[in-house]
Amino acid sequence: MRCIYCMPEEGVDFVPHDQVLSYEEMLRLVELSVKAGIRKVRLTGGEPLVRRGFIPFLEKLSAVEELEEISLTTNGVLLKEFALDIKRCGICRINVSLDSLDPQKFVKITGRDYFHRVLEGIEEAERLGFHPIKINVVAMRGINDDEILDFGRLTIAKPYHVRFIEFMPIGKRNSWTSDRFIPADEILNTLRTLGELKALEHHSMDGPAQRYRLEGAKGEIGLIGAITNHFCAQCNRLRLTSEGHLRGCLFSDKEIDIKTPLREGRGEENLLQLLKLAIDNKPKDHGLLQRDPKKCVRHMSSIGG
Ligand code: SAM
Repeated sequence: MRCIYCMPEEGVDFVPHDQVLSYEEMLRLVELSVKAGIRKVRLTGGEPLVRRGFIPFLEKLSAVEELEEISLTTNGVLLKEFALDIKRCGICRINVSLDSLDPQKFVKITGRDYFHRVLEGIEEAERLGFHPIKINVVAMRGINDDEILDFGRLTIAKPYHVRFIEFMPIGKRNSWTSDRFIPADEILNTLRTLGELKALEHHSMDGPAQRYRLEGAKGEIGLIGAITNHFCAQCNRLRLTSEGHLRGCLFSDKEIDIKTPLREGRGEENLLQLLKLAIDNKPKDHGLLQRDPKKCVRHMSSIGG
């Protein structure tokens, strides 16, 4: 996929395989994270479902004691094929990226003609009882702003949680411009034309979304105001890149290499210290409104959205 907000059209340079964390290394780091107090893991990417051996990895991950929640973010292209295996591993929380309900516009946004495959994946997940099924929509003026109401209506008919994400200016070559940006409040006001939007209570495992439900709706609406309503004070995320770097903030290129000490065979105490350092060094504020956000070197596809 070459989503215009995430990946340059010509693709990205692939990292040599030996520089990418193996599944065994990922598991080891998750087991350590649990000791540091982490209880929730999200698998994202890149695209988690394209990596060979993903399901056996998921099985092992789901056996990690004290991990309370595992969830997955996917482009949905291979979801129909893998949904049952994912469910069998005990994982039923899933986020699928879908920025348009119009097959032709989907091609324009993603560069690929996979709309129907993604939709079939979502329907299969619903049939198998996944819950919640979150649909991530990056809101972009002039691209999919005319579909905000259609996505709102989708939550009336279906038990999906549609989450509108403010378009974030990450990566040097993404297509972000200020006139494409739609603030979360504007999305909310547009949605109010569909009927009363009831604000839902925020739970600690909800993540950054402000949640709402339209009257009589089966599903929910979430707003992720990453720019206008930045939730840095509540952000408890720590990202682990495929190259084995810990990243405390989506928007900051300050990373801690934990792969090298892991491969050097350093002891548990030493690795735990690095994890704690990454947690302690989480910035207070992403500062995106004060500096040029395009200075972020990595693309979202190599950080994990
Ligand atoms: N391949 C998976 C997928 O397509 O969902 C996981 C990786 S993708 C980077 C994770 C999420 O990041 C997607 O839901 C995508 O919409 C979001 N994302 C990527 N770039 C973004 C940007 N510039 N602004 C807002 N959200 C973005």
